[in-house]
Amino acid sequence: MQVEIIEVGPRDGLQREKTFIPTDQKITLIQKLVEAGLRRIQVTSFVHPKAVPQMADAEQVCAGLSHVEGVVYSGLVLNLKGLERARNAGLNDVDVSISASDSHSRQNANMSLADAQTHFHEMVARAREYGLTIRGGIQCAFGYYENDVTDDLVIELARQHLALGLDELALADSTGMANPAQVARLLAKIIPMAEGKPVILHLHDTRGMGLANVVAALEAGCCHFDTAFGGLGGCNFIEKATGNIATEDTVYMLHAMGYQTGVDIAKVAEVSKMMESLLGKQSLPGKMYQLLG
Ligand code: ZN
Repeated sequence: MQVEIIEVGPRDGLQREKTFIPTDQKITLIQKLVEAGLRRIQVTSFVHPKAVPQMADAEQVCAGLSHVEGVVYSGLVLNLKGLERARNAGLNDVDVSISASDSHSRQNANMSLADAQTHFHEMVARAREYGLTIRGGIQCAFGYYENDVTDDLVIELARQHLALGLDELALADSTGMANPAQVARLLAKIIPMAEGKPVILHLHDTRGMGLANVVAALEAGCCHFDTAFGGLGGCNFIEKATGNIATEDTVYMLHAMGYQTGVDIAKVAEVSKMMESLLGKQSLPGKMYQLLG
């Protein structure tokens, strides 16, 4: 069975890193990920450069992407301005999301959940008008520090998102609080609601439950996962957030379990090694790249 791996390292992986990676290095990095067999790559986010300095070169990164048959590049957008920027930069795929947590939304986006929903609807409407492929996400879908996220709320948000005619739905465990039972429970409700549209899981390994959550999701019928090379990552606006599940580790586990991904782990590991030295780090959180790189 085929599992789709969506590489989010160039965006989620790098966004919190203080060392600015030069644009040409980012482009090389993305190119190497393509060569490693990744077919979907989230390349950047269109946020204010003051908020996330690492993403200040979003347009230049997009301008340097090479067209490869079957490869889809996407960008994260937080507002209408970001949406315009992504479109002008030539991206056809945008990732739009809101947080299920009212308190996270207020801290992160300066909006109540209700206002964020209205804003989300506007962005989706505009993106549809432009004919873009839209991935609609729910951040903190598995909990936030203030315990203001319930299953019922997430299911209701998913229902509303899907009713807008999104192409894909993404559930993000931004805080790394998800556990396998919860993942199974939520996906059992949400995957049927999506009526065949992809439901993507975006997991952080903050509490070491990332791969266990992948197994639970697979059993619940989910076959689309966001991962980041070397396990880099973490939201700028979530305290103590740590890396995404590592691409190499996830792919290794999937292949060992008999799933196919089309991803060459050794080539991804080379990328992680390259980034480890560019970022001046002793090591990245991922395990497999250290064995292979
Ligand atoms: Zn994330």
